[in-house]
Amino acid sequence: MNNIETLIKAAMDAREQAHAPYSQFLVGCAVENADGALARGANMENACYRLGVCAEQSALAAAQIAFGLGNVARLAIVGGPLQAAEGTRGEPVMPCGGCRQAIMEAATLSGRDITIVCCDHTGQERVTTTIKALLPSSFTLPPA
Ligand SMILES: [Zn+2]
Repeated sequence: MNNIETLIKAAMDAREQAHAPYSQFLVGCAVENADGALARGANMENACYRLGVCAEQSALAAAQIAFGLGNVARLAIVGGPLQAAEGTRGEPVMPCGGCRQAIMEAATLSGRDITIVCCDHTGQERVTTTIKALLPSSFTLPPA
């Protein structure tokens, strides 16, 4: 896997591509596999609000194509308001409930937990956790 700073930088770069004209809250996400391959995503809002896509699900879709959902090992999330004052820090952005379920899908496929590094817009305020800690007793289907 990559150095954690590399992963967070990838999420910060992805955040630059966010399309968030309605909330003005930009989020980027970088997903990596055990070999260090990266996939990135950013939130993508829509004039029809309910069609918006979170950065995490955007990055997971890219990871699905790049190396497969079952190979997701770790991800970093970086987010905060567009107009954050220069030199200020914020609160680490945690994945929403829907994204937790989407990340759990990857964990279920791989049979292992996934580390999640949640950061503010500067990448400096961080909470490191895992999907199993964030979503205990998750919904899963029994094996077919
Ligand atoms: Zn979400």
